[in-house]
Amino acid sequence: MSEETVATTQKDSIMPTYARFPITLVKGEGSYVWDDKGTKYLDFTSGIGTCNLGHVPSVVKTAVESQLQELWHCSNLFHIPTQQKLANLLTSHSFGDQVFFCNSGAEANEGAIKLARRYAQKVKGTEAYEVVTFTQSFHGRTLATLSATGQTKIQDGFAPLMPGFRYLPFNDTEALAQLVTANTCAVMLEVVQGEGGVIPAEKEWLKKVEEICKENDILLMIDEIQTGIGRTGKLFGHECYGINPDVMTIAKGLGSGFPIGAIVATEKAAKAFEAGTHGSTFGGNPIVTAAGAATLTELVDSNLIENVTELGEYLSEQLNELKKQFEQIVEIRGIGLMQGIVLSGPAKDALTITRENYQTLLLPAGPNVIRLLPPLTTSKAEIDQVIEVLKIVFSKELT
Ligand SMILES: *Cc1c(COP(=O)(O)O)cnc(C)c1O
Repeated sequence: MSEETVATTQKDSIMPTYARFPITLVKGEGSYVWDDKGTKYLDFTSGIGTCNLGHVPSVVKTAVESQLQELWHCSNLFHIPTQQKLANLLTSHSFGDQVFFCNSGAEANEGAIKLARRYAQKVKGTEAYEVVTFTQSFHGRTLATLSATGQTKIQDGFAPLMPGFRYLPFNDTEALAQLVTANTCAVMLEVVQGEGGVIPAEKEWLKKVEEICKENDILLMIDEIQTGIGRTGKLFGHECYGINPDVMTIAKGLGSGFPIGAIVATEKAAKAFEAGTHGSTFGGNPIVTAAGAATLTELVDSNLIENVTELGEYLSEQLNELKKQFEQIVEIRGIGLMQGIVLSGPAKDALTITRENYQTLLLPAGPNVIRLLPPLTTSKAEIDQVIEVLKIVFSKELT
């Protein structure tokens, strides 16, 4: 067998952790991707909310190409100019004073949990180690972050879980009476739960969470891994709610597809990480931070984020029109270009048909929700195209 044949036929050499779609993608540009047979797809998944500037955006490509000529890696024992630039951009456009760079969302959350424990040990003592999270949340796949995740299906088979997490029902104001115990050090939550089914936090509820955290010196940690980097029509999703977190974690959209994660914190919280307390070999390396700095510069210098609000409203309106027409649509929910279509039954068949018959890529979020995460650079014309496809799928194929 030639090397190429080996590469494409021995699929079993990859662990079966993903039930992959039967498509091999080889090229991307803007809102479109192409498979190895040359078929073109409209991609409203954005690599799960990662390619927010579309596929292969030229500003990021240029920045990475230029960095590739200079230095690829040097470890965090040295100062890294692109890392400094990205940290400055993040802190000047958020509540944060300081940033720690890592390589993924789970790692950012893992680090935030460590930061919360260390912070609380200093100000409250060793008993204050517990992080409160919420049902249907998703915080990652490491042992600590899957323990933080409020979904048993993510935890199944990995016992014993990491101790020090307690789950409360999301958007439940009465349950907030149980938020604080002598052991509580932090609250971690997504302002729109992504993997859990595109569930936005209710404003009053989230304000109440913030109030309780401030009163009790409990760190409010927002997992912005999916909601951050312009997705909701603000640079960070919590800005839609007017709350002031102590810590936020970001990843997905930050590097336009280059693997990067970050913890952004107030100086007060960040102080808990002294030299030697946390680290990462690759975290914030020259290549990924060049990608991150170019991504963030493009977002803050252009009118892309304002467009997200307008396009998000348009998408939501169009989806609500569909809801009027089709009984199987129970609810439309989301913020900005993070929208969910809640169905009365499983979402899987509709997703297969849109993909196979109409070359349109959409995501599930839990069993009954279709999730739309288009690139922030999408257009009304592309949204119309997806709406037309969904109309056909709901009317003809699934009745
Ligand atoms: C994707 C995601 C994570 C995990 O990020 P990875 O980069 O896959 O580790 C954590 N939290 C939220 C909200 C996410 O959407």
